[in-house]
Amino acid sequence: KQSWMTRLKAGLSKTSSNLSLLFVGARIDEDLYEELESALLMSDAGMDATDYLLTSLRRKVKEEKLVDAAAVKVALKELLIELLKPLQKPLELGRHDPLVMMISGVNGAGKTTTIGKLAKHMQRFDQSVLLAAGDTFRAAAREQLMVWGQRNNVTVISQASGDPAAVAFDAVQSGKARGTDVVMVDTAGRLPTQLHLMEELKKIKRVIGKGMDGAPHELLLVIDGNTGQNALAQVKAFDDALQLTGLVITKLDGTAKGGVLAAIARTRPVPVYFIGVGEKLDDLQPFDAEEFVEALLG
Ligand code: GDP
Repeated sequence: KQSWMTRLKAGLSKTSSNLSLLFVGARIDEDLYEELESALLMSDAGMDATDYLLTSLRRKVKEEKLVDAAAVKVALKELLIELLKPLQKPLELGRHDPLVMMISGVNGAGKTTTIGKLAKHMQRFDQSVLLAAGDTFRAAAREQLMVWGQRNNVTVISQASGDPAAVAFDAVQSGKARGTDVVMVDTAGRLPTQLHLMEELKKIKRVIGKGMDGAPHELLLVIDGNTGQNALAQVKAFDDALQLTGLVITKLDGTAKGGVLAAIARTRPVPVYFIGVGEKLDDLQPFDAEEFVEALLG
């Protein structure tokens, strides 16, 4: 069985080989900086983070009088770690009774899979989990969740029809009554451009707050690591609507380029609680800036 780090490295291999090759036997000149700029842009880092990294790197090279390419690569690694470090923050359990989490994202981002992984993660910490099937649009999704819940000892609150905010409210009430540790409220996938659905998310959040003061305590956005710069647009839109507390970035084992984390760090530094590195329930890892940069730059 491959370790998650191997899978992450494989997923980010395009970016890491693009970046690493630049430094092999290279001279530290304008050509190198130009190629580096292209490679960073190709990695989905975006203009702002790319400019920032290059400016910082030029300064570091000068200040530290770096003369060989290997040292410049190390300098870039250090800058990337420094940039991504603020995104590293553990999801703290046990702060509320129950801890109420609301989970959103676009369709196909990996929301359902991530909820399963999160439930397993919580159970490992002896936390009981209750799930609100807030995706009231798709009956099949709801049924799938019920079956999954039974199999994994997770209570699923669901309503055949109706209002996702009501389902969420019921789940919070039920969680309080049962003494559940964590209530996870799933929401239907939606695009930031679907304004009425973004309004609906705000409503779900508001109604959860009526069920419990200060809830939801965690507002998570699940994003597909393969969506490139579009991921940044999603973070901005969902953060504007909900004031996100954390991100889960999925599919980093696939063919993601990884640079979008730099863009997020620069423009909308919402903590990355976890990264998804596979389709199985165990394939969820707490985000660690150093490990990530190690996979990205080898
Ligand atoms: P949802 O529409 O957001 O609920 O997305 P799903 O949870 O149904 O996931 C969509 C697809 O992405 C499924 O085929 C999942 O197995 C896959 N998926 C989710 N997370 C990961 C991940 O971290 N790595 C890989 N390789 N696939 C993932």
